[in-house]
Amino acid sequence: MALRIAMAYRKVSTPAILVVAGTIPAHLVARERQEKYRQKWDESEKGRWTRRLIKDIDIWTNRGFGNVDFHLTQMLTGHGCFGYYLNKYKIRASSECVDCQAPVDDAEHTIFMCDRWWRERRSLEVNVGSDIGAESIVQIMLQSKRNWLAVKTFVAKSLGTKEEEERQAERRRMLN
Ligand SMILES: [Zn+2]
Repeated sequence: MALRIAMAYRKVSTPAILVVAGTIPAHLVARERQEKYRQKWDESEKGRWTRRLIKDIDIWTNRGFGNVDFHLTQMLTGHGCFGYYLNKYKIRASSECVDCQAPVDDAEHTIFMCDRWWRERRSLEVNVGSDIGAESIVQIMLQSKRNWLAVKTFVAKSLGTKEEEERQAERRRMLN
């Protein structure tokens, strides 16, 4: 499972992963090339979810703080332990949420909608002083180190737990 997941995570589109990592590739350093890269980003179909979250590459890349870990990457790319994703890569038979039975479990569902995490989500919202959603979360993170850490903690808790439970389910499937 860990390996299959790790391999599936590698299917993230190149522009999306580069933007999330804040890495403008070395060969694109020249200014005019950067412009081209930005255009590519704006037109990219594959990185659509990431683009919804990270609207402005410059602000994201030039933020003075905030590192992106494994689980934040999953939220930002949509590639992770989500029913939709596991189903797409034939790891799971259904795309539904194992926690609340919503028909499609994806990054948006888990982070912003799933009932299982409402308590933690609400406490995050109180903590950062605003509602969170796909359109606002990155903006909220970029407001302060404190906000960044609060979001990161929520994401690590929800996605880390899901992942551990999926690992256990996979182990049970192998034993049966
Ligand atoms: Zn759910």
